[in-house]
Amino acid sequence: MTRYALLIDGQLQPGEQADAVLDPATEQTVGYAARASHAQVDEAVAAAHKAFAGWAADPQARRSALAQAAAVLRENTQQIAELISREQGRPLRFALGEVAGAAATFDHYAAFQAPPAEVLRDDEQRLVRIERRPFGVVAAITPWNVPIILLVLKLAPALHAGNTLVAKPSEHTPLSTLLLGQLLKDVFPAGVLNIIAGDGSVGEQLSKHPEVRHITFTGSVATGKRLYAGAADDLKRLTLELGGNDAALVLEDADIPAIAEALFWGAFWNSGQVCFAIKRLYVHEDLFASLIAALVARAEKTRLGNGLDPLTELGPLTNRQQLERVKALVADARTHGAIIHTGGHQPEGPGYFFEPTIVSGIGAGVALVDEEQFGPVLPVIAFRDVEDAIRQANASPFGLGASVWTRDIARGEAIARRLDAGLAWVNQHLEVQPGAPKGGHKSSGLGYEGGLRGYEAFSELQVINIARP
Ligand code: NAD
Repeated sequence: MTRYALLIDGQLQPGEQADAVLDPATEQTVGYAARASHAQVDEAVAAAHKAFAGWAADPQARRSALAQAAAVLRENTQQIAELISREQGRPLRFALGEVAGAAATFDHYAAFQAPPAEVLRDDEQRLVRIERRPFGVVAAITPWNVPIILLVLKLAPALHAGNTLVAKPSEHTPLSTLLLGQLLKDVFPAGVLNIIAGDGSVGEQLSKHPEVRHITFTGSVATGKRLYAGAADDLKRLTLELGGNDAALVLEDADIPAIAEALFWGAFWNSGQVCFAIKRLYVHEDLFASLIAALVARAEKTRLGNGLDPLTELGPLTNRQQLERVKALVADARTHGAIIHTGGHQPEGPGYFFEPTIVSGIGAGVALVDEEQFGPVLPVIAFRDVEDAIRQANASPFGLGASVWTRDIARGEAIARRLDAGLAWVNQHLEVQPGAPKGGHKSSGLGYEGGLRGYEAFSELQVINIARP
């Protein structure tokens, strides 16, 4: 059974202990992840700190290392994607897409030129320039649902900007990230990229380390709030990409046969384990019956299975805790009078599978509607007045994404503007345009990832003010 090592100061290291990582489709061990000891966390941060000055001084070396990282990912796409599929559960073709996206992200930053410094004054007396400086050591902490692309979206811009990095993947899916460290070992100078693994306590030690100047985090709102509070001690900068409870609004003129497939995948891709999946579906009452029928038909022909089976459309939940949470939300919805139109059960056999489930008869006040389910269960709620649907969509502590579905594009756009969400779509959900910043409103996050604004989050301003003799 393969043991995956940590990457610290350019060396692969075993941990003091190793944790078995289970395949959620079979509940069999995929491999063992080294768990970083307290001393190894400190060692990784110290290595990143030591490597910082040299790395920050050579932008050309940074760009060429990022290009090389893209090539390494491309050469090893199959191996990385199979490991993602096995530890996370997703169909292999989607995992292949994730690795291709990560390679494209490295390529993008390899070619990226940071905007020039802003010259504020340049005359006989003064030269005043606004420049950007990297922070130093950045801690990147990632979740289990899309492990590689979510890390590379942090790693590539952070390293491009001149920082060094210590990354910690989720304890549920550490293997693909540790494999990435192994593959990139010789691409970056020792200490520039360090990868450690372990549970939340390792993440906590890393995030509180005094040499860590910036934390870039993707994960749950609860952990994000802890990091925010913890960062106050020494005013660490941080970017938080947190959970969501995205609403989709289907207006009375929508073409149900034309949009049902996109709505289904907007909710169920990766078995619903997507931060900005559709998690509440509001539909005009005239279309309610036809939309339920279309979604039920699609759900019932969905092939659930092992991600390595090419016919699989939906894999399992990634871990037992998440399966138990989804089951508990469905059980609670039943006690509140929910109608389960299809699904609602864990199928017989091994694995953390749950049938794609379409629910109605519940609304605000029920946990399945109010909270983030992060699983293949979609509550559908009828509305009569679109103003009421907008109000319900916005009546949430979350504000990650939201969408409007209508044939009237102008009306859709006007409604999208009124949805309190960082990503607002018309007639689609999930697409992230390259170059666009991604960030949540309200409790869904702080700051941005992606695009120029996301890039600038990895540096801080410095005003250079020179008195000319
Ligand atoms: P989580 O918050 O439980 O864990 C995320 C990471 O934080 C893991 O690596 C974990 O070990 C670490 N961690 C846990 N406690 C910590 C602590 N006290 N200090 C430092 N690190 C700690 O989240 P999860 O369950 O792995 O991920 C699912 C969540 O992530 C969902 O809410 C989902 O919506 C969200 N998510 C958001 C985005 C986005 O871009 N906004 C993308 C993907 C997932």
